[in-house]
Amino acid sequence: MAQTIELMDSPKVKQQQAPTGPEAAAVDERVLARRAHEAKKAKATAVHEADRVSTDIGSPLVAPDGTPRTVPNLGRTVTMVGMVTNVDVNDGPHPKNIRGELGKAMNNWYTKTVAKDPLMRATDSSHAADKRNFLNTHTNATSKGVINPKKPGVVDPKALSKHIKKVAKHLGADLVGIAAAHPAFMYASGSRYVQDGEAQDTYQSMTPDALAKRFPFVIQTTVAWDHDTLQAHRHHIGDMSYHHTSMKNAMLMKALEGYIKEMGYTAIRGAVNPQGAGLAAGLGELGRNGMMISERFGARIHMPDPILTDMPLIADGPIDLGVEDFCKVCRKCANNCPTNSISFGPKVVYNGIEKYKINWLTCYKVRPYVADHYGSCLTCVAVCPFTKPDSWWRRVGGTLLKMTPIKARPPVVHALKWIDDTFWGEFPSRRVKFLGYDTGLKVGEHNCTDPSCTANHKEPQIIPVGDVGFYAPIKKQTDVFVKRG
Ligand code: SF4
Ligand code: SF4
Repeated sequence: MAQTIELMDSPKVKQQQAPTGPEAAAVDERVLARRAHEAKKAKATAVHEADRVSTDIGSPLVAPDGTPRTVPNLGRTVTMVGMVTNVDVNDGPHPKNIRGELGKAMNNWYTKTVAKDPLMRATDSSHAADKRNFLNTHTNATSKGVINPKKPGVVDPKALSKHIKKVAKHLGADLVGIAAAHPAFMYASGSRYVQDGEAQDTYQSMTPDALAKRFPFVIQTTVAWDHDTLQAHRHHIGDMSYHHTSMKNAMLMKALEGYIKEMGYTAIRGAVNPQGAGLAAGLGELGRNGMMISERFGARIHMPDPILTDMPLIADGPIDLGVEDFCKVCRKCANNCPTNSISFGPKVVYNGIEKYKINWLTCYKVRPYVADHYGSCLTCVAVCPFTKPDSWWRRVGGTLLKMTPIKARPPVVHALKWIDDTFWGEFPSRRVKFLGYDTGLKVGEHNCTDPSCTANHKEPQIIPVGDVGFYAPIKKQTDVFVKRG
């Protein structure tokens, strides 16, 4: 089935009578003109690829059933260059691990380990002592609410887009974007991302192409992690910085989903890959570290499961922050990664998509070995030069890079990288104190004040010398169990 949203150059589309409802927004001439202009300016693929005629199965321009489609414009950091096989969410790291496909140690860690730290038990479902104490258990399990049968009459998609973004921000989102839905970033038919396995819907069996046609827009939000506590990466404090934003996201997205339904439109969760939607919606660009890098917060953002909808909206387009130019030079994440999971080399083509690809398996496999110290490493997020407080000096640097013509950017990148290394360090580590926790102390050495903490507090307290905290494990310690490429 042809994907209609991006068929901007098709004479068939131009000759059609003006459609109504969601389709009116899908073929809005102003949007098409803007996308065409942006794509040409950025030498991106959306328009140019659509000009090419190809009937080959295996081309990104052809759906599995042989009908033509166009290539989504995902900006400069990610390019679709071949046929994309839609990802089955059941092939992700956690489902594989739960099925025991990653080995016994990994399975035991994921399914049987209760976190020693009470903050972790309350914010990370896989290591909670009782999942009912974890907020998302309840938000994910809420039954599918019905859709208000009364839709508003005539709607202005531009005004509605502005409105829904304001609502999302009021509900707690730090960034909001709207992407034109594309089959390439839908999950495979029948597979849905759900944390409790119950949130199924009547569209579950639709193909990615049919879904993208029926629901033309994706709303993606993010909540930023706190910068200062994230500096305690590889520590429970850093985990908190990360995990509690997933709870905030869950609440705001559930509220937004309900709001869309109360307005008379469908809102589907669990169907769309967050990164694809985030790139197409212009929330950021994909870094060497495999993370979305945003303009205001760098990589310290959480991309929740987005909302797929038939609400008539106007899609945003990808942005160019200079991440493409920075990552070619920087490699700070790769240098700091304790498991060598981040490539020092160029981008690769994986599943029809050209991008930097991390080795998720080595990144993931370190977790059982470090579970006493932290849950998620996050070093590649914390050390990235884009991950800084949202301050005036950060905005000056970002604007300078963005405004510099692409060809002239390398010297600007070298200068900004030098500044980052000089002021923040090539291998940044800072001592962070938060709620009685202290990264200067090893876990189990009076590192928290909570009476319910089950860590060993009997050992004598060791006060580190200087301001640099204890980070475990450091790169050389992980050599013993991580095979390096
Ligand atoms: S091990 Fe840490 S630094 Fe390396 S990719 Fe994983 S999260 Fe990032
Ligand atoms: S640390 Fe450097 S190389 Fe890694 S994602 Fe950030 S900018 Fe790119």
